[in-house]
Amino acid sequence: MTTRNLLLMFAVLTFGWATAQEKEPTTPEETEIYEPVPPKVTPGEDGAPPSDAIVLFDGTSLDKWISSVDSTAAKWILNDDGSMTVKDRTGDIQTKQNFGSVQLHIEWKSPAEVQRDGQNRGNSGVFLNNLYEVQVLDNNNNDTYVNGQVGSIYKQHVPLAMASVPSGEWNTYDIIYHAPEFEKGQKVKSGTLTVIHNGVLIQDHVEIKGTTPYIGWPKNPPHGKGPLRLQDHGDNSRVSYRNIWVRELD
Ligand code: MG
Repeated sequence: MTTRNLLLMFAVLTFGWATAQEKEPTTPEETEIYEPVPPKVTPGEDGAPPSDAIVLFDGTSLDKWISSVDSTAAKWILNDDGSMTVKDRTGDIQTKQNFGSVQLHIEWKSPAEVQRDGQNRGNSGVFLNNLYEVQVLDNNNNDTYVNGQVGSIYKQHVPLAMASVPSGEWNTYDIIYHAPEFEKGQKVKSGTLTVIHNGVLIQDHVEIKGTTPYIGWPKNPPHGKGPLRLQDHGDNSRVSYRNIWVRELD
């Protein structure tokens, strides 16, 4: 076979293959994929963690957590009912383990007996990657700035709804967090957050603009994985948490 014929055959095979790729399939098999097969995960019953979750708090101890102030043992109150409560002015607590992108399940409640108002009623918060706060607040009959209300990405994204149960009852947050990406000290891809509050979508894959400070604009310090952190707002908020687990997404 001459070189010219070889080239011709190559071209026909190449263009023929390309045409085949673009052609509308005529059999069901042409659009079916069989591998890789997704792993099997056994779902938990009645809010229990699924089989592949990392359990961060099941009510038995605070062993997976440390003080954010000085990295000593977490000093929050372990209750008999499988929950823990912020111990006022002992500081935030954070996981010993670091995480990047995660699916997080966490349950929280504000005290039945309300105290104060605005940002000082049942304020706590769930910080993804130690930096990005999903607000926890008792917003029942308690107005505040909407980008700081319950379920907000603090001072960045107003929630789509206020879906809290009555004060003193347990709320659930199911959060999907995708970490931002950095190259050479610069953010090249924003992180995202999706939050479902008591089964209601309140943050729909929103772009994280940066950190969530009380004062100032969001900042974008480069970072890798980090702990999950829970806030002691420092005003005797008495917010409680229970049933905390994550599934790593990266
Ligand atoms: Mg807060």
